[in-house]
Amino acid sequence: MKSRVFVISLGLALLAAPSLLRAAASLNVVATTEDLASIAREVGGDRVKVEALSRGYQDPHFVEAKPSFILKLQRADLLVVVGRELEIGWLPPLITQSRNARIQPGSGGYLDASQNVRILDVPTGPITRAMGDVHPSGNPHYWLDPNNGRLVAQAIKAKLTELDRANAAYYDQRYADFDRRLAEGEKRWDASMAPYKNAKIVTYHRSWPNFVQRFGLQVIGYVEPRPGIPPSPAHTLELIAEMKRQQIKIICVEPYFDLKTPTSVGQATGAQVVVLSPSVGGVKEAGDYIQLFDYNLRLLVTACKETGARPS
Ligand SMILES: [Zn+2]
Repeated sequence: MKSRVFVISLGLALLAAPSLLRAAASLNVVATTEDLASIAREVGGDRVKVEALSRGYQDPHFVEAKPSFILKLQRADLLVVVGRELEIGWLPPLITQSRNARIQPGSGGYLDASQNVRILDVPTGPITRAMGDVHPSGNPHYWLDPNNGRLVAQAIKAKLTELDRANAAYYDQRYADFDRRLAEGEKRWDASMAPYKNAKIVTYHRSWPNFVQRFGLQVIGYVEPRPGIPPSPAHTLELIAEMKRQQIKIICVEPYFDLKTPTSVGQATGAQVVVLSPSVGGVKEAGDYIQLFDYNLRLLVTACKETGARPS
């Protein structure tokens, strides 16, 4: 009885206070990847509705555009992109076709998340086709350093506050909570990697420069001969020789690449093939941005332990 009275009076209070309802109204946020979507959810909480275009198990350079993407973009108040030309092969025509003035590049509802983060591999000389699929404005896989995730969260907080001043204090508080949990995660991840400082690995694509720099690993070679170019027999033989010479026992592969070449390299060198998740949603266990690091570092630490990797 008491609870019914409470429900009725709460309903009346809501009717009498439209500002309360307005505070709960949500901005539509669309992010190109699940990593950015996860960070936007952390900051936006229940005041935003967040959708990602690509899935974490897809190669973010080559996403197949679906009609549903345009519908999402038409409704968006804010579009968050990775930038650094990661999405150049699929996103620009979709933004145009959405005819949503709010999210066109340069508009208030367009956020390039790479603007204030630490970018690595910025080419210094001229870029030629022979170099492969090199990103002229630097390596776009920057979200794999948790501090860059923190900087992205700050940029999203500033943007949400600009678009929705009424909820500024809420976004501040949500950001502070994310920042605290991320810092706890960083302590946990650093401690787990400490026994394997500077361990050497091979990766398939150049997805991990920010990650390895942050966690003190060294990449000595790639399964791809050049970025975006599939493995070739000549390069694979060179890689095997180099791995034997340096006794490299770990090959990290993104989930969207064929395991055939990594597996045969592993057989030739005795190295373990570890499928890491470069994005939230790449595997079920990497359900959000913090879990992404928990998952990858757990796999790497296990691989280091099993292959006897030592600090060098
Ligand atoms: Zn790439």
